[in-house]
Amino acid sequence: MQINVSQLLKEPIGSSRNYEVSDIVDVTGDGSGRKVQGEVRLLRTHRGVLVKGELHAEVELTCSRCLSLFNFPVAINFEEEYLPTIDVVSGAPLPSPEEPSSFIIDEHHVIDLTEAIRQYTLLTMPMKPLCRQDCAGLYPDCGHNLNQGPCDCPTPAIDSRWSEISKLL
Ligand SMILES: [Zn+2]
Ligand SMILES: [Zn+2]
Repeated sequence: MQINVSQLLKEPIGSSRNYEVSDIVDVTGDGSGRKVQGEVRLLRTHRGVLVKGELHAEVELTCSRCLSLFNFPVAINFEEEYLPTIDVVSGAPLPSPEEPSSFIIDEHHVIDLTEAIRQYTLLTMPMKPLCRQDCAGLYPDCGHNLNQGPCDCPTPAIDSRWSEISKLL
């Protein structure tokens, strides 16, 4: 997902642009493209261009309980300042930004949003993804997916020590 900002860089500080975007982006870095859609707002700052993205996509996750794959909607909201590497008027190279992690505008005055989309998608990923809140998981002995109903395994016997105690009660 790329946006050319050469015009915006020539405009006064405070100039802005809004874009509706829709593109296929490899959001998880696994080589599979996902459709990313939403709105991108660009604001000319004194150093570069502030990018505010309000995007959404669907990623494929593995359920931490039943191990099935499911589609998970992610909201990708970010605000990052992109700094130029070339002076847009003179074409002279600019000193590289002090912060090594800075997002940059490339030598053709193009902003590539892919890296920001990846980083912010990662931040929104759940630690323990669930295909649904009440996912029943797998039966431990046979690995049957209990979301598809019970399996044929015998019901586990109640631990004998507990049954002795319940007799006493
Ligand atoms: Zn599940
Ligand atoms: Zn079973």
